[in-house]
Amino acid sequence: MNIEELKNWLKENNAPEFRFKQIYQAKFFNLATNFEEITSLSKFLREKLNEIFSFSSLKINTLKEANNKKVYKALFNLEDNEQIESVLMMEDERRTVCISSQVGCPMGCLFCATGDLGFKRNLEIEEIFDQVLFWARYLKEKNLGKLTNLVVMGMGEPFLNYDSVLGALKILNDEKGFNFGQRRMSISTCGIVPGIEKFTAENCQVNLAISLHAPNDFLRSKIMPVNKKYPLQVLMPACFDYVNKTNRKLMFEYVMLKGFNDSQGQAKELADLLVHPLFHVNLIKYNYTNSKFGASDDRAIFFFQQELNKNGVSCTVRKSMGEEIWAGCGQLKLKSS
Ligand code: SAH
Ligand code: SF4
Repeated sequence: MNIEELKNWLKENNAPEFRFKQIYQAKFFNLATNFEEITSLSKFLREKLNEIFSFSSLKINTLKEANNKKVYKALFNLEDNEQIESVLMMEDERRTVCISSQVGCPMGCLFCATGDLGFKRNLEIEEIFDQVLFWARYLKEKNLGKLTNLVVMGMGEPFLNYDSVLGALKILNDEKGFNFGQRRMSISTCGIVPGIEKFTAENCQVNLAISLHAPNDFLRSKIMPVNKKYPLQVLMPACFDYVNKTNRKLMFEYVMLKGFNDSQGQAKELADLLVHPLFHVNLIKYNYTNSKFGASDDRAIFFFQQELNKNGVSCTVRKSMGEEIWAGCGQLKLKSS
């Protein structure tokens, strides 16, 4: 359901103003699944709305569950028959949903399965927030607790679909609706500098992460084509500017590729690049996507982390989740197995 279209339709049909509120609250606050459930509306109006609008812009195609029941992946059909995936991860008290921002991705990072798909189109605002509402309803129905975190780290590059991504997060943040705190939301970008600059100026509380993956231009350009357009001497000033202006932490994601970017010398080089107390590094275990790369072993990751810490850079290692159902970072590519 496109919110603006719904608003306009109600206006054109002389509905009182509170009608919109009733529908909006049913969807975002009560987590209704269809117009039928909104019994505060007349049967006639419910039927009419049902004819004209889809209550959700997504139809679930397949839901997969990892063996440990901690990770779930949903494949959705969109109205034009394109497909996207999103993932729910449960860890202790955390319930994190990882959502997509585009169908496919044009950035072509060599280690990422979504990159192999190529780019189809941007997602609409409602296709973005409907992913979150799907999982919120799922948790509620199964009595599995409440959503605690939201990351835009699924398929696609969020800063190439800036307005719809920020628009969807704004709606999810609305205290009269879904009321999800900005501090519990994160966006990850591969380093689209104009997007980072625009985001800096928003001065909002949504967290930002940069997919860095290499300590120098030579290596980064080999695995991330975006680095040719926005090399480190352009990307890093935008990152420093972000932390200096917002005084917020900035996360750098670094996928550990065996024998490529995981030596102690490279850790030192990375530490020299990331000298700011608000910078934080997240080391990610490589999830298998194709045979171009291998995952660094635990020892290499441990020494890499130690070297960063020794040089004053704070760093954590992110556990990998949901690999066997192809739900890990970078594995979203609509693979049905
Ligand atoms: N396009 C955005 C957000 C989606 S990707 C971005 O690139 O930041 C989410 C994270 O998963 C990124 O840090 C990405 O680099 C990482 N990633 C991609 N492929 C991966 C893989 N095979 N193993 C582990 N992480 C991967
Ligand atoms: Fe796109 Fe991010 Fe995958 Fe790169 S890592 S191809 S930017 S989704």
